Amino acid sequence: HRFKISELGRNVFWLQGPERDHLVRVLRLSPGDEIIGFDNSGAEYKAVVNTVGDHSVTCGILEQDYPEVEARTQVYLVTGLSKGEKMEWVIQKGTELGMAGLIPLRTKRAVMKLEGNKAKDRVERWQKICGEAAKQSHRVRESKVYPVADWKELKDLLPPTTQWIIPYENEKSMTLRSVLKEFNPQEPIAILIGPEGGFEESEVLLAQNTLQAQSVSLGPRILRAETAAIATLTLVLGYYGD
Ligand code: SAM
Repeated sequence: HRFKISELGRNVFWLQGPERDHLVRVLRLSPGDEIIGFDNSGAEYKAVVNTVGDHSVTCGILEQDYPEVEARTQVYLVTGLSKGEKMEWVIQKGTELGMAGLIPLRTKRAVMKLEGNKAKDRVERWQKICGEAAKQSHRVRESKVYPVADWKELKDLLPPTTQWIIPYENEKSMTLRSVLKEFNPQEPIAILIGPEGGFEESEVLLAQNTLQAQSVSLGPRILRAETAAIATLTLVLGYYGD
């Protein structure tokens, strides 16, 4: 059983809130049971449950490890807002595959509009999905879901060295492989995927001009937005052996 650590001390960590409740109420674990904790630092801790309190569970660390489970290349998905269940699917599968993070993007043809508190709540929900998927796939760092962004905000959300790719169905010649060959896998890569309705040409031009994004073809068949996102992520991670 894997848990996200709420607070880390010397040879001890604490689980609080939903992590504590899950251990106590759902899994019904008790003192003496062994668990694994992670704190998004890249480490994981084998531990034993020491005490179970009303607000917190205390665990004694038995062993610390740095498993080679995270992808070496940081790959981000930037996806045009699609319908709820499609975003959730991409977030869950993307986390399992090892994406570093996801930025939900407002685009011209989006059928879904997310603003204000509704956007904030949705991002919180998506982050929880990342947490669950990270546990299931034994990751030691959760993928991060960024606040819903507009085009003009993108550049500042990721490091300036980020290399951008924009799969575009009207791009007929440039292949993903030929672009990845020129990229530096030590620097982050961000994949821009359109919403259900695709990108408008003006958005592709904007990405090319402001982010130096490389437009690529994913082949002659038009993929659904969520398929395109997961397929491109898989191909990029696979290309660099991650
Ligand atoms: N209408 C379908 C849907 O409901 O999802 C397909 C939408 S497709 C236009 C959505 C996005 O997937 C595009 O903006 C593009 O980023 C990507 N995409 C899909 N097929 C592609 C292809 N063959 N080559 C490049 N990009 C593709």
